[in-house]
Amino acid sequence: MVENFTKSGWEKFDLSLKTKISTLVKGYNLYEQFLTDYTHACKRYCADCCTCNLTMTTLEAYYLVENLILKNKSGLLTKLNNSPHRRFQPELTFNRIASLCAQGKDVPEEQSDPSWGKCPFLEKLECVYYHFRPFGCRCMVSKRCCSETGFAEMDPVVMTVNDVFMQFIEHLDTGGYSGNFTDVLHLMSDEKNRNRYEKNSLQGQYGSLVSNIPIPVLMVPPEHRKKIEYILSSLNSFLIDKN
Ligand code: SF4
Ligand code: SF4
Repeated sequence: MVENFTKSGWEKFDLSLKTKISTLVKGYNLYEQFLTDYTHACKRYCADCCTCNLTMTTLEAYYLVENLILKNKSGLLTKLNNSPHRRFQPELTFNRIASLCAQGKDVPEEQSDPSWGKCPFLEKLECVYYHFRPFGCRCMVSKRCCSETGFAEMDPVVMTVNDVFMQFIEHLDTGGYSGNFTDVLHLMSDEKNRNRYEKNSLQGQYGSLVSNIPIPVLMVPPEHRKKIEYILSSLNSFLIDKN
């Protein structure tokens, strides 16, 4: 289930915030390119997957908020006040789950239910900041329309690649936090917190957020290794190139 990945890029990642952001964007682009090999039913105005339960990292929230400010659209963040009170607030990050798996420990099940509510950034079935949406939104794809099936139907390789990107983005944001996107955005919409983040001094406990850790092992089933080798080496090279 898990794979040791010991190339230097995954271990050494002392990057500036600017480089982390450009690496994040490279990752988003690589993922988009990867998806072109698969057929999905996803299309404009299809938004059953836009629920209040999505998660994100502080790096992605920083990228999103800074871009909203640049485009004079930071007022959109007031929509956070419309977030359903009950939402998925994970107790573990992807790399913490990988670490438990590597130690042969059980991973506690966490509850998440789409009926808890819609994403507050969904307006007339469209995302108000689509271009800057976090990976948790980008990786919601389905072979068949979710409104017909009631769930997203994903190719197992796509699911593995989703996990790898989640692990990669958390790794890139080591020292930052993960959590429900509403909670992470609340934190990063505060200028003081963004300033602390820029100085690498966002420390302590922030409500339900969980601190990010580097990749301990990658969650890649052996039968998918060959198929996704180019993804792993591309992500690794994004890190190595900048070290
Ligand atoms: S994941 Fe499902 S609901 Fe979301 S866009 Fe694709 S088909 Fe539509
Ligand atoms: S942020 Fe945008 S893409 Fe993501 S769930 Fe909300 S409306 Fe959908």
